[in-house]
Amino acid sequence: MLPALLTCKCPSCRKTTIFVHKGIFPLGELVLLKDYCEVCGQKMKSERNNGGGINYALTVVLFILNLGWYWPIFGMSYKDNSMYYYLISSTLVVILLQPYLMRLSRAIYLYLYVGFGNTDK
Ligand SMILES: [Zn+2]
Repeated sequence: MLPALLTCKCPSCRKTTIFVHKGIFPLGELVLLKDYCEVCGQKMKSERNNGGGINYALTVVLFILNLGWYWPIFGMSYKDNSMYYYLISSTLVVILLQPYLMRLSRAIYLYLYVGFGNTDK
């Protein structure tokens, strides 16, 4: 299930992507979901959209993950500016991954939504 989630595949059949566009362009339609899965008919769109909240949670997770590589490589101390460098580098990573994060948060929400039995075919 996790690989299907990370590649934003249909939560029901995991055969096709949940997004209208395969790539991240056009950016304006980045998170545009298909109405229904063409393979299994799973409804993709939901009226409620909690993608934003999940996106925020993912951002926090990324900051923590960044700490995992930053700390051993550069070290962290209150005596110098390493805290600021860590925050800046983490922010850059989050911005670079933002298109993917936006999609992933939609996918996670859809998986939760479908997972709780609200299939609504
Ligand atoms: Zn499907």
